[in-house]
Amino acid sequence: VNGHLPVGPVTESAEVRPFWDGARAGRLVLPYCPGCARYIWYPRSFCPRCGATEVQWREASGHGVVYSHTTVERGMGAFADVGRYVVVFVELDEGPRILTNLVDCDPDHVVIGAPVRVVFDRGADDAVLLRARLERA
Ligand SMILES: [Zn+2]
Repeated sequence: VNGHLPVGPVTESAEVRPFWDGARAGRLVLPYCPGCARYIWYPRSFCPRCGATEVQWREASGHGVVYSHTTVERGMGAFADVGRYVVVFVELDEGPRILTNLVDCDPDHVVIGAPVRVVFDRGADDAVLLRARLERA
């Protein structure tokens, strides 16, 4: 068991097309507000801080650290067959904190501050979802 939650179905909003196009190519592309000099998570076409609608789409490093984590011993519904899995807040080098699934890890050896990188899991119908993996895994 490697702790990957199922992928999809995924609804892709047209206003954040650059994010999805990037994800499909294995790249983390995030909205950036020039006025606030901040990256925005989750992806959207405006800045939730200042309201600007002129966001830029910039490729992020995909690198970050474990900010917080928890292990789910037994999932429910669509997650029931995954086995143990790890839910993590990743703090990206660029600032945003992303709640996602930490994959391919030993849940008993995840620590706060551990370096991680963003990866993308693919499902049916070309669906793709952001995940994270320990740098040394
Ligand atoms: Zn802003």
